[in-house]
Amino acid sequence: MFIIDAHEDFAYNALNFGRDYRQSAAEIRQVEKDGPTPALNGQATLGFADYQRGQVALFIGTIFATHRRHASGFAEKLVYTDYHQARFQYHQQMDYYHALADRDHDYFRLVRSRVELAETLAPWEKEPDARHPVGIIMSMEGAEGIESPAELEEYWQAGLRLIGPVWAGGRWCGGTIEPGGFTSEGYTFLETMAGLGYVLDISHMNTESARRALDVYEGKIIASHANPRALLKNPPNERHLTDDAIRCLIGRGGVMGIVLYNRFIEIDWKDTDDRGRVRLAHVAAMIDHVCQLAGDAAHVALGTDFDGGFGWPAIPQELDTIADLQKLAPELAAHGYSPADIAAIFNGNWRGILESSLP
Ligand SMILES: [Zn+2]
Repeated sequence: MFIIDAHEDFAYNALNFGRDYRQSAAEIRQVEKDGPTPALNGQATLGFADYQRGQVALFIGTIFATHRRHASGFAEKLVYTDYHQARFQYHQQMDYYHALADRDHDYFRLVRSRVELAETLAPWEKEPDARHPVGIIMSMEGAEGIESPAELEEYWQAGLRLIGPVWAGGRWCGGTIEPGGFTSEGYTFLETMAGLGYVLDISHMNTESARRALDVYEGKIIASHANPRALLKNPPNERHLTDDAIRCLIGRGGVMGIVLYNRFIEIDWKDTDDRGRVRLAHVAAMIDHVCQLAGDAAHVALGTDFDGGFGWPAIPQELDTIADLQKLAPELAAHGYSPADIAAIFNGNWRGILESSLP
């Protein structure tokens, strides 16, 4: 049963840390073993051979750059202080995805349309155990470096299909770091996005902004990578979704991708903790929480966020790399989920969103 993963900082890792994901995660770990990357970003959990073993057919790959004031340290390269720099970094990452798909067509394919989606998924459906190219859909995570909503057309032409307007926050609406609701320009941003056909990603919006976006956005809405706040004890910020926001997302026909980062499952988890502390059973419980709110299994899926600022060992105990995601199926079955439910969670729910939103 193939998997669609809604959130991976793939180009960011390639350009910031030099990761070559045509290699396996094990090969990347070997290359990096004496360097600084594992301490900054964890050990690699993504790699082509791992996508194949895990039957990960398609993922949403981000375009991500940080404003200097929110950058994590000296090692961060995709950092901007003005709109010109941000635009250059956004384009650099889109160019990376295009070049990868052009030159290494046997490994990765860019998906911009329903036709390309069908072409990418068909071989995975027919022969899930054989080697197939992995599809990538480009999404912008945090559009705070965009100067004007008028630029959204140019990004659409370049193949961008989803946008999460906020990461830190402040520019268009409140986010994980900065408070507030939508600015008047933020509303224009949403209108322009909807007019072009972008899917809106509410991940990283604070509670007020998520609620507002769910009320006003006229296109498809998802939360590519966010967990139920109700299952996290005293989360320190508004990074995760309240039950109220989850219910609204469900009401809008949206889907939520569960993040497989230990600190988003057990908020005080540390790399030095016993690996047995966070397990796939906890991930299944998060999935079940959304399904209980929905009354079905049609609104939850995976948004692993793998290699997005963390890696091994900060992932559930049963996982070494993304190759092990299939181990979630027996956990869900143990919670009473049918094979059809598991297929919806693994691929069908994201596929439904994409089939109804891609041009
Ligand atoms: Zn994120």
